Amino acid sequence: MIKKKNILLIVIDCLRADFTYNPQKAHIPNITKLKNEGYSFLNTIASTSTTTPNFTCLFTGLYPFEHGVRSQSGYRLRGKFTTLPEVLKKNGYNTYAEFTGPLIKEIGLSKGFDEYNLRGAKKTIHTQWGCELINKFKEYYKEPWFVCLHIWSLHLPRIIRKGCNRKKYGLTIYGRALSSIDIYLEKLLNTQSDDTLIILIGDHGEKTAYSKFEYFGKRIIKFLFRRMKKFRITKKYFFKGVRDILIGHGYSIYDELIKIPFILHNKDLIPQGESACQIRQIDIFPTILDIIGINYNKEITGKSALPIIKGTDCSNRDAYIEAVGVIIPSKDEWLTGLRIDNKYKFIYAPFQEDFEDELYFLKDDPAERYNVAKENKSLTDKFKNKIKEMRTERMVGEKIDEDIEKKIVEKLRNLGYMD
Ligand SMILES: [Zn+2]
Repeated sequence: MIKKKNILLIVIDCLRADFTYNPQKAHIPNITKLKNEGYSFLNTIASTSTTTPNFTCLFTGLYPFEHGVRSQSGYRLRGKFTTLPEVLKKNGYNTYAEFTGPLIKEIGLSKGFDEYNLRGAKKTIHTQWGCELINKFKEYYKEPWFVCLHIWSLHLPRIIRKGCNRKKYGLTIYGRALSSIDIYLEKLLNTQSDDTLIILIGDHGEKTAYSKFEYFGKRIIKFLFRRMKKFRITKKYFFKGVRDILIGHGYSIYDELIKIPFILHNKDLIPQGESACQIRQIDIFPTILDIIGINYNKEITGKSALPIIKGTDCSNRDAYIEAVGVIIPSKDEWLTGLRIDNKYKFIYAPFQEDFEDELYFLKDDPAERYNVAKENKSLTDKFKNKIKEMRTERMVGEKIDEDIEKKIVEKLRNLGYMD
């Protein structure tokens, strides 16, 4: 019998594709080595810019309007949906979640995990907890294992290791925090044998700041913006004006917030290489199963990207994206969009009458600065109809009880979400 590969899925919260694939922005020799030896997808599109729904997309291969978890709270995953750890467990894997942040058990993502370890914010990879985790790989996890490690130290407030707060490790606080993670990854990856399938991804991207002054200034502006939003003072012109001075994620679907890295590494299973094809976060679930040879027949929206790795397919996959409220779904914040053919980005707010549709030609305008929706009415209408046909406003999740909701909101507050 062929020995099953261990699977290490590393999810770095807020990890942007451009920082991962450009060694000039941070000092990341270990991530770069992983990329150079493995296979990377340069254009992987997350479904939202918020943690909890994105983890749900990752584990179900479905879009948020299909699995029902749209925000950090409000709705939980129904039992009828099969998750990646459930499939792996059924196929003989021992499954471990090493999570943190808002991924509270009651959201429904613990299904299929033998151990669902949700640590507090103080236990980071840069503390004793990080050393303990490395020891778990040496003597605790039972083979064949699937470990999903959720790293939080790139999330606000970002953590920079002692000695990394200088130019060599990046010009931004974000870059230096990422360089700090890379130092930890060296130790972690050294514990892995050639047998492990290593996967490195982000859950969503991040809007970053350049200087310390800008970093703290933007955090104050974010605080004020949240307050204004609460009292509904914000309007589209104000929102557009603050796009550049906001920091963090969850409030929009521009590329810096939804383009994530996706690196696969295993010398026996994956060839070296990279692809510029546009794929989606929901494709990661079936891709992992396909690579390790598990036949999964249940109908899901995500499709395996293995044919792209093998070179038998090179087509872009259209991606649906949304940001419908960080804490709970809200019509005031509801943005939906499409990223088509790695070429067009369309953004539309179905519940806001005064919202102007946005269309960007990404090849000429990768920073999404020039809205060409008015000049391209037929294209805009076509994309809008496509979203309407998906019926993305349907709520299929299970409403969370009030007491659990309170628990989640409290947790989010501790994480700084309500500041
Ligand atoms: Zn996140």
